[in-house]
Amino acid sequence: MKIELDQAVGAHADEAFTFLESLVRAKSTVGAEQPALEVFDQYLSALGLTTERLPFSNDVSVDPRSGVTPPAEVQTEGRYQVLARTPGTGPLRLMLNGHIDVVPAESPELWTTPPFEPSRRNGRLYGRGAGDMKCGFAIGWLALRAIKDVQPDLFATQRLGFLAVIEEECTGNGALVAADQYGALAPEVILLEPTDLGIMVGGVGVLWVDIAVVAASGHALQADSSVNSIDLGARLMDGLRDWAHGLWKSTPEPSMPSDENPYNINVGKVVAGDWASTAPSTALFSVRIGFPREWSATTAEAKVRAAIEGIVAADSAFPSQPTVILTGFRAEGYLLDADSALVKDLSAAHLDAHGTAPEPFTLGSTTDARTYLNHFDVSAVCFGAIAYDMHGIDESVDLQSIVDAAKTLARFLIARFADERVLE
Ligand SMILES: [Zn+2]
Repeated sequence: MKIELDQAVGAHADEAFTFLESLVRAKSTVGAEQPALEVFDQYLSALGLTTERLPFSNDVSVDPRSGVTPPAEVQTEGRYQVLARTPGTGPLRLMLNGHIDVVPAESPELWTTPPFEPSRRNGRLYGRGAGDMKCGFAIGWLALRAIKDVQPDLFATQRLGFLAVIEEECTGNGALVAADQYGALAPEVILLEPTDLGIMVGGVGVLWVDIAVVAASGHALQADSSVNSIDLGARLMDGLRDWAHGLWKSTPEPSMPSDENPYNINVGKVVAGDWASTAPSTALFSVRIGFPREWSATTAEAKVRAAIEGIVAADSAFPSQPTVILTGFRAEGYLLDADSALVKDLSAAHLDAHGTAPEPFTLGSTTDARTYLNHFDVSAVCFGAIAYDMHGIDESVDLQSIVDAAKTLARFLIARFADERVLE
């Protein structure tokens, strides 16, 4: 049986890679996710799953669990998500989850091959989203395709779901809306994020803010006497980094004992200035801020605002307090018990497939797993391929790791769905 299963995974691997190439080619930055979802829909339908499009509203969400809706200029009409389910009428026994959205690819001229033209070389597939995380859809598809060959009746009595969500990279509202409005839930969820074939059980909190720094503008000949808004903003960012490092000392993350920077500050975007000989009066800094798992998003917002106020108040070069607004993630930290059945059984499946049991780990980042764990009391874990340069230049995924992950996932699914016990 195991030999047949691995042979079936191997036999369909190239189709899975072709699926991944089609997904990468369908550029799915925020607001433009629909063509990639169509590809997902086609491939899962062809496997015999029933697919359903779940409309996704661009309206500003008032749900306190949600992130801040992206600005209107990146939104499009008719957005939706796709839930694929094995045939039947009962509830889902287990759900696979992937996010179809990818981050933008700035500086495409720095890429070896264009970011949205998939390229296979050196045993990898390159392209924006190849690693984070369109490879996860290839893993899920490949495991299901192999199961169809060797155990076609596996889902006859208990149903499996495979959900493709949007906005994982900016708000997390996709997974939230699918669960809350459409009941896309199961007692266990596996998110096929790239984890280097490890089992990721947790993440820290993440807040996105825009900080508008104001300075006294003027001619460049006075540049030595007044500090311009870009320089002021840079000082504020240094202050925030010191604050975040202090947070690690006061509130370390117990599951990340060796990481001295679990709460990273990332300056992702700066908009300022209009003239080389003018000191800019305003600068807008878009910043991602990590925060401790024990804080709520509301607490994090209050603490960040207080930290900024404190840094600015202590520096006489700032003429006024900056304006701070939330722009995306209001994501609280999360952690699944490493002794949960989901982690243990997935680990056992990996041991069976590859001879090693992966260690559960936590990262200083976030995933949609938090939504299931924190808001729906559902066991959720991330497991997937080996990815390189995620969000960066020449992002890629190791193709063999897609095959390896599919072997683990297929074993896990066979064990789960062979167990007929009815869950609470
Ligand atoms: Zn991801």
